[in-house]
Amino acid sequence: MKPFDTVLIVDWSGGNDTGPKPRKDAIWAGVVRNGVADAPVYLRNRVAAEIWIAAFLEVEIAAGRRVFAGFDFSFGYPVGFAKALTGQDDPLVVWDWFEARIEDAPETNNRFDLAGEINSTMGGKGPFWANGLGRDIDGLPRRKDHYYNPFPDRREAEQQAKGTFTCWQMAGAGAVGSQTFMGLPVLARLRRQFAKQVRVWPFEPLHRDVAFVEIWPSLTVGPAPEGQIKDSWQVSELASQIAALDADDLGGMLDVEAPREGAIFGVGFEDALRGGLRLRNDCFALPRGVHWTPVDDALDLLQGRLRVVVREEKITLSAALGRVSSHAVEAKRANPPLANTAVDGYGFAGGRGPSAHQIPLVSGRAAAGDAPGAVPDGQAIRVLTGAALPEGVDTVILQEDVTVSDGAICFTGPLKQGANTRRAGEDVGAGDQVLAAGRRITASDLALLAATDVSEIVVRVPLRVGVLSTGDELVEPGEIAHPGQIYDANRPMLLGLLAQMGHDPVDLGRAPDNRDTLRHMLDDAAGKVDAILTSGGASAGDEDHVSALLSEAGAMTLWRIAIKPGRPLALGVWDGIPVFGLPGNPVAAMVCTLLFTRPALAVMAGEDWPSPQGFDVPAAFEKRKKPGRREYLRARMRDGKIEAFPSEGSGRISGLSWAEGLVELSEEARDIAPGDMVRFIPYASFGI
Ligand code: AMP
Ligand code: MG
Repeated sequence: MKPFDTVLIVDWSGGNDTGPKPRKDAIWAGVVRNGVADAPVYLRNRVAAEIWIAAFLEVEIAAGRRVFAGFDFSFGYPVGFAKALTGQDDPLVVWDWFEARIEDAPETNNRFDLAGEINSTMGGKGPFWANGLGRDIDGLPRRKDHYYNPFPDRREAEQQAKGTFTCWQMAGAGAVGSQTFMGLPVLARLRRQFAKQVRVWPFEPLHRDVAFVEIWPSLTVGPAPEGQIKDSWQVSELASQIAALDADDLGGMLDVEAPREGAIFGVGFEDALRGGLRLRNDCFALPRGVHWTPVDDALDLLQGRLRVVVREEKITLSAALGRVSSHAVEAKRANPPLANTAVDGYGFAGGRGPSAHQIPLVSGRAAAGDAPGAVPDGQAIRVLTGAALPEGVDTVILQEDVTVSDGAICFTGPLKQGANTRRAGEDVGAGDQVLAAGRRITASDLALLAATDVSEIVVRVPLRVGVLSTGDELVEPGEIAHPGQIYDANRPMLLGLLAQMGHDPVDLGRAPDNRDTLRHMLDDAAGKVDAILTSGGASAGDEDHVSALLSEAGAMTLWRIAIKPGRPLALGVWDGIPVFGLPGNPVAAMVCTLLFTRPALAVMAGEDWPSPQGFDVPAAFEKRKKPGRREYLRARMRDGKIEAFPSEGSGRISGLSWAEGLVELSEEARDIAPGDMVRFIPYASFGI
């Protein structure tokens, strides 16, 4: 099948105008075009929505892009209804039937009256029920007491999709009946307006530019993150899921036996839809027979196995700090755009030899912001820093180096042609790359982008990373700790590290050493986040429930990495979401996070694989190191020398806080004396 270039998902509403301020229960549209998401569009009523959709389709069609347009209401009714209503079995005749009878204005419409009228012609007790108005309506039962439905209650698709409502229910939270009444007329009109392009799934062959498809976001999209409007979240997520499918998979999903009652796109293919951005269960598998994996091998494996899992969106430059670019960006304009003067002084044409010179001045001056004028040959003009060079000027002399008298400047050479000027484009030419893909945007990047007229940029949606602590011994700081209990130190540390790395940290709380509770917490988290960090319970002991659960799910490998400090790292996949089972010990948890979890998350977030830069600096300490494992010491630099934290005990949280970086000691044995060079990696090199 020819691929779709643009995916539009519309969350419809059967209700009245919702006002100017974006809110729930309105109409929301999500768009992903050529893989890039737009910000969700808020549409306050159906009149606005119809105008917006028509304009949208015009643009996409004119640009030659194929559009998948999804709407979340029933395109057809259960068998028998179309015939009873219109005398024909054709669901699209039902669309026109509604279009001819529905009256719709932002504050009023006749949907309940029309439902009552239809019921009255069909025996007066159904099929429609529930009346959202204060007044009674002939033929429309308020409740299901005296209700009789001559047709099936649900279509095949609704029986398969758990949580859907029947199209007969006209009012009540989640009811879809009203949306259908108020949606079909709009689609009928759009179908007429774009008769050449629009085809309706699953009733017509989809060989044209635009496919109207019935969708239901809750089929595959979980709850919205805190603070986000559900409908807004769902339309963009579903649009991204569909856009991430490859053309053949999508073709297969659309290729259903055409049921006359319509269908819901994606039913039976939920995993494929959700899976576009998920990881495979075996993504952390290790080669057989390896006992202790060297750090570098572990890193190579991670780098090879992971890929970006977050979608793209276009944002303005003002919102771009700390976001990850997903495409290389080119300068739209050169910097500097025109040749200009680097100093305050006088400009003229050509250099001058070593003798004394006098050049007559033209009147006026050139200052920054002035459009460049012209200066006749043999004359000079007063110029101020940043001014574009007037035509006929290519050289500038500093004002301190001249005397001005009788309308002329006098100075002694020599002076090179081009002195004290900046060439157009000497910094950046128009079309030069100013930002690489996969870069976390810094304040300096913003300067370069702004200077070269880049006002919008395509970035990755931030990676949401959940943090869960495990262990019966843990309590929250501020709570009373009974003997044997300790305060949860890892969770605030890990949440903080994630924030510093530029991800979106999500606090998943604490889990007791109880497998069922932990299972529920992981299930719940998998719907909300893109990756999960757990700490504790990751080894192979009785109370190591994280590793036990992940093993049970058949999706875990215990990475025994030859590193100190560090215990086995349990890497697993829960419901398509990677789980980094970190050691409970705070020092080991932090070192493992910086070394392994950080680059892994960076790749998932769309960043380039980061390799922390270290420096060789003389040691201010002594240490004997055994061969075998790679070691990391908590360290800091003072007076050009590296101090190591006096205790290597891996429970010493104070050392983490004291340190400003890590000393990396390679696998070989070493005898370090003060003054010997050691490799120091500042925390800043880890992005924290
Ligand atoms: P575990 O990996 O669960 O065997 O834990 C190893 C050590 O780390 C134990 O001493 C735990 O009490 C400690 N620990 C585990 N989780 C945390 C935490 N969130 N904060 C502080 N210490 C922890
Ligand atoms: Mg534990």
